[in-house]
Amino acid sequence: MNKKVVIIGSGIGGLGAACLFAKKGYEVAVFEKNDNFGGRANIFEANGFRFDMGPSWYLAPDIFEHFFNLVGEKVEDHLDLVTLQPSYRIFFRNDPQSLDIHSDIERDAATFEAIEPGAGEQLRAYLKQSEYQYKVATEHFMFKNYDTIFDFFNRRVMTEGQKLSVFSKMHKFVSRFFKTEKLRQVMEYTMVFLGTSPYEAPALYNLMSHMDFNQGVFYPRGGFYELINALCRIAEKNGAVLRNSCAVDEIIVENGKASGVRLESGEVVEADMVISNADMWFTETRLLKKKERTYSERYWRKRVMAPSAFIMYLGVSEKLQGITHHNLIFSEDWRKNFDDIYKDPQLPIEPSLYVCAPSVTDNTVAPEGKENLFVLVPIASDLKISEDEKEAYADRILAEMEREMKLPGLRQKIEYKRIYTVDNFAADYHSFKGSALGLAHTLRQTAIFRPKNYSKKAKDLFYVGAGVNPGIGTQICLISAELAYKRVHGIKTAEPMTEL
Ligand SMILES: Cc1cc2nc3c(=O)[nH]c(=O)nc-3n(C[C@H](O)[C@H](O)[C@H](O)COP(=O)(O)OP(=O)(O)OC[C@H]3O[C@@H](n4cnc5c(N)ncnc54)[C@H](O)[C@@H]3O)c2cc1C
Repeated sequence: MNKKVVIIGSGIGGLGAACLFAKKGYEVAVFEKNDNFGGRANIFEANGFRFDMGPSWYLAPDIFEHFFNLVGEKVEDHLDLVTLQPSYRIFFRNDPQSLDIHSDIERDAATFEAIEPGAGEQLRAYLKQSEYQYKVATEHFMFKNYDTIFDFFNRRVMTEGQKLSVFSKMHKFVSRFFKTEKLRQVMEYTMVFLGTSPYEAPALYNLMSHMDFNQGVFYPRGGFYELINALCRIAEKNGAVLRNSCAVDEIIVENGKASGVRLESGEVVEADMVISNADMWFTETRLLKKKERTYSERYWRKRVMAPSAFIMYLGVSEKLQGITHHNLIFSEDWRKNFDDIYKDPQLPIEPSLYVCAPSVTDNTVAPEGKENLFVLVPIASDLKISEDEKEAYADRILAEMEREMKLPGLRQKIEYKRIYTVDNFAADYHSFKGSALGLAHTLRQTAIFRPKNYSKKAKDLFYVGAGVNPGIGTQICLISAELAYKRVHGIKTAEPMTEL
């Protein structure tokens, strides 16, 4: 092939592109500014604990499988996937009764029925719909590059669109099935994964429930970073060169064509094609000159960003009772919680939060007899938080966990604590407004309305990652890599590729 591809950033989209293009025979070089590869799927070790810094839910295993097959590999040769049981536990504020989801329709329908008579049958109907939507989305929508409005508003979307509830909002859709606030929350919380709220997300995203309820929740033994190790291994096996601690300073555009990059060190690397996996806002407004930008500063100012996060990585001196691998605490005032994130940005007063305890499943992530906790509170992006406020908020969240998850004395058992939030996301990943996830999945930022994966100003400049289609999520970013591959090769199909 002998064509040179430079990839900026080693997030999942960047590594995915490296695997695909290297496998096809391109000469691939990846430049990553951080010491670690993997982008937001980062990792660090401290005091004998190994913390996955970002993703922890391995969902939609079929999409990962598809990607691995496409590059001639098998998931099971790289990852030891554990099916979590229960899939997750939900604690409702001021309610002694927690709820487990098992991803087993008989058990989950019984759980729903006990809370709301008739809800068991409703769950079955809901999940049938989610499965159908997932199937249509993965077979006909998610693997397609949208070029014109007619690509999106074609006959299929217009006919399926009504059935798929593309045009109504998630909360309204869920409310048609379930009456109690509790069950509505259970079906809506996944919108946070997409960086949006159930009041804004198109109902189409009820396909998310197919993942956690029907397909199940998995964990790669060793930690989520095993996925990054696997992608790096596959890229390198096919000849890609991965360079860490190597920031790109400029995309060189000559005569309207991307011809390489200039590294921070001053080194110029020539290429036939440049693919940027760095945050789209950063790529467009910091790596390109004004005349070379497809999307201006003004464009970005008008975007809706997904939340940032207030995260704590905690090393706990003993095993904790009553928790499982994935735990969620839901706020009582659901709408107010989303308003604190989107409408009236502030540290949420009564937040919903997520507590991951991988050491429940995996004894390699914590010293013996200890617990590794990852605590995440979704908060508004661009929020300015002083160091004192961070400490005070951390204490408040821990008190909340002690009370709601029945973990008395938790604060006294913490032997390691690191807080990670808005300013860290901005510094570590060049993330616009310090968002944890990037562009939110509102209707106006979905499919045809999301930024394109190619530059309209510079030939041979492409984009991958959560900022382009299909959007946020580890497996979804792998699809973005496939879409970049399709774009470069003029492949216009809507279906997943079967070979390169
Ligand atoms: C806290 C958290 C929890 C999450 N949980 C889940 C989950 O459970 N399941 C799931 O599927 N998804 C989850 N996600 C979402 C998922 O992790 C992301 O959507 C995905 O990893 C983003 O990948 P990306 O390809 O967009 O690249 P990014 O991760 O954004 O990486 C881009 C890379 O580009 C590099 N870069 C930037 N500028 C330069 C430059 N100038 N030169 C060189 N390199 C540069 C950055 O350092 C970074 O490494 C989570 C995300 C976060 C933050």
